[in-house]
Amino acid sequence: MDEKFKHFRETLTAYRDSAAADQVVENSSRFLPVCVPTCRTELVAVTDERRNALRANLFTLIDQIDRSGASDRSPQATTGDSNPSREPGHVRPVDPLASVLAAACATCGGYCCQQGAEHAFLNAEKMATILDDRPNTEPVDIVNDYLNRVPNTAHQDSCIFHAEKGCSLPREMRSNLCNSFECNGLASIREAAKESGADHFFIVSSCNEQFAGHRFAEVEEMEVEVEVD
Ligand code: SF4
Ligand code: SF4
Repeated sequence: MDEKFKHFRETLTAYRDSAAADQVVENSSRFLPVCVPTCRTELVAVTDERRNALRANLFTLIDQIDRSGASDRSPQATTGDSNPSREPGHVRPVDPLASVLAAACATCGGYCCQQGAEHAFLNAEKMATILDDRPNTEPVDIVNDYLNRVPNTAHQDSCIFHAEKGCSLPREMRSNLCNSFECNGLASIREAAKESGADHFFIVSSCNEQFAGHRFAEVEEMEVEVEVD
């Protein structure tokens, strides 16, 4: 093992044991140390310019639906939507690692959201899906719905929806990319769970090997969710 990496692992383990002692977490060696990125930018007021840019971007996407012919919102036209709940009678598999991954993202604070700007990775396909899901709603109402969810303050130099406690959009309004993206940190958690059966994690958010935050997390039992209509 590379000496530098070995030293980093030892530092992580010592950090875990110290945090466990502080938080009275027993048997800390159960918790596998894993690292995720960190986002610790300041919160700043969202300007009217940014709101206007978002509005313009959303109308452009809706316009692209019409011009590309994707306004034919038949089931075939929306098969790119990865939301499985759109399939009638679908049994939605519950991700056993969901609680741990959510804890990891909360510890990180949304590093990957920093590229979201005023587009939030939305695209015409997503707009078509939302219009399809709300057949009695006008495009302008969809745009206003997004605008109404912009927080008063958001993380500096990040997505316009990147609020103090995370994304201000409900899952169904986020882009497919936002709903599916997993960074290397999350991938390492999945890999550890798969390879060694790890189900307790000590999650550390770090930047340049400096620790910014941590959280103890464990896999939680969840019931399978069944869609009946
Ligand atoms: S996916 Fe990774 S970078 Fe994005 S919020 Fe979660 S831990 Fe942070
Ligand atoms: S829409 Fe939400 S999840 Fe997506 S980049 Fe913006 S803040 Fe992050």
